[in-house]
Amino acid sequence: MERKVDALVLRTADYGESDRMLTLFTMQYGKLSAAAKGVRKAAAKLRFAAQPFCFAEYVLAQRRDRYTVIGAAGTDGFYALREDIGKFYAAASLAGLCDAILPEGIVNEELFLRAISALREMCEGDEALALIGFFIKALELSGYMLDLAACADCGAVLEGKVFFDAEGGCFYCSDCARGAGVSESTLHVLKACAGGRSDAPLTSDGKKRALKLLYAYFRAKTDAQVRAVTEYIRLL
Ligand SMILES: [Zn+2]
Repeated sequence: MERKVDALVLRTADYGESDRMLTLFTMQYGKLSAAAKGVRKAAAKLRFAAQPFCFAEYVLAQRRDRYTVIGAAGTDGFYALREDIGKFYAAASLAGLCDAILPEGIVNEELFLRAISALREMCEGDEALALIGFFIKALELSGYMLDLAACADCGAVLEGKVFFDAEGGCFYCSDCARGAGVSESTLHVLKACAGGRSDAPLTSDGKKRALKLLYAYFRAKTDAQVRAVTEYIRLL
C-alpha cells in the first residue's frame, strides 16, 4: 500500500552502507519511522529528503507496520537553518521537542502547522523568538498551559519581578512569591512570544532565561530531555 503524506524530518539515523532511518512528523498520521534506502550516496535522488528539517510530500510504501520512502517532492528544505549555527540548534530544538512530545501515530495537525511556520520564522528572522513562541504553543497543546496574565494565588496582574514554580507551572506575584524569581525582561519575552503585546525591548538575556524557564517546566512535566535545547541555551 502507498501513502502520500506531508512530513517534516525530526530525526535521522544512519544504518547499513548508505541507508537512513527517518523519524517523520506527518500531518496526516502523526509521528512514524520510515526507511530511506541508498540516500547517503552522493548522487541519490532522495538525498534531499533524508536531511534534518526537510519538509516535503513523501510517498511511503507500507508493508505491515513498516514504511519505506519511495518518493518525495520537496516543499521547503529550510536551507538557511543549516548555514547558521544558532538557527541550526534552534531548529534542532524544535525537532527534538516535537519528537519528545509526540507519541507514535497520534495525529496533531495544529502542532505540525505551528512547527512549519516556526521553522519559516527561524529562517527569516529571530530564531530564538520563533523557538520560544513554538515552545509555549507546544506545551499548551500538550495540556501544559502557562498563565502569563495573573498570579496563580491572588490573581494580581503579573508585572515587574515575578516568580515561577516549574512543578506547578504557575506564576506568582512578588507578594505571593513561590518558586524561582523571574526577571522583568524574561517576562517581557514570554508575553511577547505568547502573542501578547509588549512594548518593552526584548533582550538576549531575557530570551535565554525565557528558554531556560520553559525547558525547566518541560522537564518537570515530561521528564524528557532534549539535548539541542541545552546546546542552544549555551549558544545564546
Ligand atoms: Zn499574588
